[in-house]
Amino acid sequence: MKIMIDAGHGPNTAGKRSPDGTLREFMFNEGVAIRLKKLLLADGFTTIFSHDNTRDVSLSERVLLANREKVDAFVSIHANAYGTTWNDAHGIETYTSLQASDTSIKIAICIQQALILRTGGKSRGVKKADFAVLLETKMPAVLVECGFMTNKKEANLLKSTNYQLQCAQAIYFGLLSSLK
Ligand SMILES: [Zn+2]
Repeated sequence: MKIMIDAGHGPNTAGKRSPDGTLREFMFNEGVAIRLKKLLLADGFTTIFSHDNTRDVSLSERVLLANREKVDAFVSIHANAYGTTWNDAHGIETYTSLQASDTSIKIAICIQQALILRTGGKSRGVKKADFAVLLETKMPAVLVECGFMTNKKEANLLKSTNYQLQCAQAIYFGLLSSLK
C-alpha cells in the first residue's frame, strides 16, 4: 500500500504560525510527517511526501502528485488556528470532503478516535469541508487538525517532539485499523 503524507504548507508560509511567532505550523506538520513515515515504512507501507521542506508546494501540485502516483490514501497533517491572537479555542478535528467515500469517512473516524485516545485532547469531531486536497484527490483522503496554534497550552504541545510522535502513532494506528 502506498500512502501520501502531506505536511500542510511550507517552512515560510505567511501567517501560519502562533501569535508569538515561536511556532510555525510547518514545523509541527513536518515533525509528524517524518515520524509517521518511519512507522509506515517499518510496517511495509510505501510512503510519498507531497511537501518540500524548502518551499510551499502548491495545493494543485500536491493533488497532481497524489493522483499521478495513484496512492491508496492521502493524509494531510495540520495545526489549527482561531483568529490571530491567543484564545481558548482548542481540540482536535479530522476532515473529509463533503461527498467523501465511505472509506475516507472510515479512515477519518479511526484516526480521530486514535488521536483522542493517544493524546487525551478534546474531540471536536469528524467534520466535512471541501479543502482542495480532499476534494480533488481521487483516493480516500483525510485532513487532521491536531490542535490550535492560537491556544497557549496547545501551542506548547505542538512544539514538543513527544506530542508530534503521539500524533504520528495515532494516525498510523487509525490508518492501520481502517485500511484492514
Ligand atoms: Zn494548516
